[in-house]
Amino acid sequence: MSVYNFCAGPAMLPPAVMEKAQQEFLDWQGLGVSVMEVSHRAEPFLTMAQECEARLRRLMNISDEFAVLFMHGGGRGQFAAVPMNLHLDDAPAVYINTGIWSDGAAKEAKKYTDVVEINVRDDKDGQFGVLPVSQWPLPEKASYIHYCPNETIDGVELFDVPTHPTAPIVADMSSMILSRDIDVNQFDVIYAGAQKNIGPSGLAIVIVRKTLLEREGVPRPGILDYAIEAEQGSMYNTPPTFAWYLADVVFKWLEEQGGVPAMQRHNKNKAAILYDYIDASDFYINKVDKDCRSLMNVPFWLNDESLNERFLALSQQAGLLALEGHRFVGGMRASIYNAMPVAGIEALVTFMEQFAQEHS
Ligand SMILES: *Cc1c(COP(=O)(O)O)cnc(C)c1O
Repeated sequence: MSVYNFCAGPAMLPPAVMEKAQQEFLDWQGLGVSVMEVSHRAEPFLTMAQECEARLRRLMNISDEFAVLFMHGGGRGQFAAVPMNLHLDDAPAVYINTGIWSDGAAKEAKKYTDVVEINVRDDKDGQFGVLPVSQWPLPEKASYIHYCPNETIDGVELFDVPTHPTAPIVADMSSMILSRDIDVNQFDVIYAGAQKNIGPSGLAIVIVRKTLLEREGVPRPGILDYAIEAEQGSMYNTPPTFAWYLADVVFKWLEEQGGVPAMQRHNKNKAAILYDYIDASDFYINKVDKDCRSLMNVPFWLNDESLNERFLALSQQAGLLALEGHRFVGGMRASIYNAMPVAGIEALVTFMEQFAQEHS
C-alpha cells in the first residue's frame, strides 16, 4: 500500500530526495564521512553551500540586489528577526492580518517595535475571504509592511502582492515558497521556515534586499542579525549543516522537475482536483472564497462532524496520513506541497468518495 503524508509541516519530502540523502549518508562526496561530520568552513561544505545558493537564485530568479541567508530558528525565528533588523524609531511596522500565522508574526513583533495591525479579512456568512490587495488601507508611513501570502492553517492564499511607495514589503512565504512563480523584485524581505517546501525544520531561508542591511534596528543576537549573517556567508556560528545540505538536494530535484513553472502547473492541477471534488460533493465543504483558496493547504469539513474521528481512523488505515485539521480551526486539512504527487490527491479523493458513500 502506498502511504501519502498530508502533514502541514514538517511535511513529506520527495522520495527521490530521501533516497539520494540515504545513499550519501555515510559517505558524502567520497570523503568517507557524512555531510554532518565535516567542517562547515572546509572546502567541500563551502562549495556545496555556494552551489546551493546559486541554485536557489536560479530557481527564484533572485538578483544581486538581494542577499540570500540560511539561518537558524525556522519561521518563528524570523518573526523576531524581521522587527529586530528593520525597526525604525520614527515609523511603526504594519502587520496585515489574514489569519493565524500573520497574527502570530504581529504578536512577536510587538516585543521589539511599534506595530499597527490591519485586519483585511472579509469573512461573510461563515465563508473566509480577504479584501483585494488594492483595498488594503495602508498608512503613508511604515518601517515595513508584513504579510503572509499563504495562511497554512486557514487555507487562505493571496495571489496579488501589496505595494507601497516607500515601505519595504516583507513576506512570510514559509508554506508557499517555490510552489508558484513570484517576482522577487516585488518584495524586500522574503523568509521561509524550511519544513514545508524545502527540507528539515529549523532552517530558515531569508532573501533580503541589500539596502536594508544598513538599518540599525534594535540590539539583537548575532544569529538573528541579517548584516552579520550576510557578511559571514550565513556562517557567523555553525549553520544547520544537514538541513542546508538537504535543501540543496531538494533544489536539485526541483531543477530536474522543470523548476518553479513546472511546480506551479503541478500544484494548480492537484489543488483543482481536490477543490473540484469538494465543491461537487454535498458531504464535504471548504469555507474559503474561491479567489483566495490555498494551493498548498486545503482545509475541509465533513458536514456531519460527528464522523470526524471515524474519517481520521479510516483514512489513516488507508495510508492517508495527518489529515486532521489544525486544533484552532478543526475539521480536516490536506497539505499538498511540491513533493505531493498527483497520485496522492487521487488516492485521497477516492477515499473521500468511498467514505461519503458509506456514510450517507
Ligand atoms: C509553519 C509556519 C511558520 C512557523 O514555522 P516554525 O519553523 O515552526 O517556526 C510560520 N509561518 C508560516 C506561514 C508557517 O506555515
